Amino acid sequence: MSDAALAELAAALGPAGCLTGPAMTGASRLHDASGHRAEGLPLALLRPATGDEIAAAMAICHRHGLAVVPQGGLSGLAGAANAGPGQIALSLARFHGIETIDSASGAMVVRAGTVLQTAQEAAAEAGFLLPIDLGARGSCQVGGIVATNAGGVRVLRHGTTRDNVLGLEAVLPDGRVISHLNRVTKDNTGYDLRHLLIGSEGTLAVITRVVLRLRPLPAPPETALCALPDFDAVIALMGDARARLDLSAFEVMWRDHFEMSGGAGLFAERPPLVVLIEAEGGGLEPVLEAAFEAGLITDALLAKSGAEARRFWEIRESLHPTRDLDGLLNLDVSLPVAAMAPFVADCTARVRALDPAADCYFFGHVGDGNLHLMAALPGLDWQAGETALQAAAYDLVRAAGGSISAEHGIGTLKRPFLGQSRSADEIALMRAIKAVFDPAGRMNPGKLLPAQ
Ligand SMILES: Cc1cc2nc3c(=O)[nH]c(=O)nc-3n(C[C@H](O)[C@H](O)[C@H](O)COP(=O)(O)OP(=O)(O)OC[C@H]3O[C@@H](n4cnc5c(N)ncnc54)[C@H](O)[C@@H]3O)c2cc1C
Repeated sequence: MSDAALAELAAALGPAGCLTGPAMTGASRLHDASGHRAEGLPLALLRPATGDEIAAAMAICHRHGLAVVPQGGLSGLAGAANAGPGQIALSLARFHGIETIDSASGAMVVRAGTVLQTAQEAAAEAGFLLPIDLGARGSCQVGGIVATNAGGVRVLRHGTTRDNVLGLEAVLPDGRVISHLNRVTKDNTGYDLRHLLIGSEGTLAVITRVVLRLRPLPAPPETALCALPDFDAVIALMGDARARLDLSAFEVMWRDHFEMSGGAGLFAERPPLVVLIEAEGGGLEPVLEAAFEAGLITDALLAKSGAEARRFWEIRESLHPTRDLDGLLNLDVSLPVAAMAPFVADCTARVRALDPAADCYFFGHVGDGNLHLMAALPGLDWQAGETALQAAAYDLVRAAGGSISAEHGIGTLKRPFLGQSRSADEIALMRAIKAVFDPAGRMNPGKLLPAQ
């Protein structure tokens, strides 16, 4: 049966659109950035170039009962885009481009395979800000950020991806197209299917086109790195900065992360905490002076040029780390801001109990209550270390009233732990929703929803 399906797919998509065997690995890396791999290759890697080809491919897979795994830029950190043997990997990479920029409405229609940075640059050329931004901007795709409801570094001011999507088009598992490329802000026309698809991690449908909300292009922001004595000072500084500035980012780094990411030596003393503040509309210097006088900061570096501001961001995004980040385990959780410092202390203690030689690097979008941990547990096997790290940390997250996934999604990585953040009734409703979109369970199986 798979031979017949592959023949139909090859006929519908042409040689560049339907790859099998070694040709697949030559064309793409097939797994995401989580470090997780499926065991074995998928049946085929499809690379449709048009919306019609995507719909045709889905209809063929439907007729032949094949499971489909949508793939965007493969920058995901939850294993959600990995396709295994017998499955079809459906890459959106060839379906890219900006279709329309509607200056009057402040909206752009973008194909799902468009790399985020390409969409950002097109918006800027038209005089707008596309406010979604994350470290993987050069590889993640618009469809991928919608499917994961990506957060990133501008959530504080402009919200998550969910807050910046006006309309969507998607192909259902049987090949039908649902198109609601809405450009208006107000649209109360019944259940909002858009919000079900945002964050669905490819388990309901293939997102093909997205209408993104655009904002006026702001003047270049002011950016500073601040040294702080403790987390109480972080909370106080954030309150003050929120009240007095148009904050666009408020990012915190614990010392080990700051130094490992290239910040060592920037401050005369080695501060326990460093905050990167970015403010649109100016006014940052007097706020920093007042914070210095109040003892909230012990030192600050105000960027004097765009290049210096970018350098500060490169530290935050660990672009020039002093160690290899590839083998590190990643955690991404949400916590009430007041619970962050106790979480860091308790989590570090638990991790060191698992492996006394462990290294822990904490940082996060503290303005959104989002904390990341990169950890090395050299004494444990990678997979065992990851499971033990998650179990240790998610207990603390639940006790603090947080979420086990702030922005990276669930994928395969957090699937066994979904019950830590969502009730059994909620998970049952999610299963029911999935069954409506995907009665045969062929969309990205084995992801997001826990095994039954
Ligand atoms: C250096 C780095 C920094 C990062 N920073 C952030 C950050 O600040 N905030 C954040 O939220 N994430 C961050 N991430 C994680 C990742 O970039 C995001 O999850 C991103 O949204 C994934 O997009 P992608 O196109 O790479 O999707 P993929 O990894 O290819 O896929 C992710 C999921 O989306 C599904 N999917 C992809 N395209 C489609 C489609 N067209 N239709 C339906 N489903 C689809 C896949 O099936 C999978 O479930 C970072 C990753 C890296 C490597």
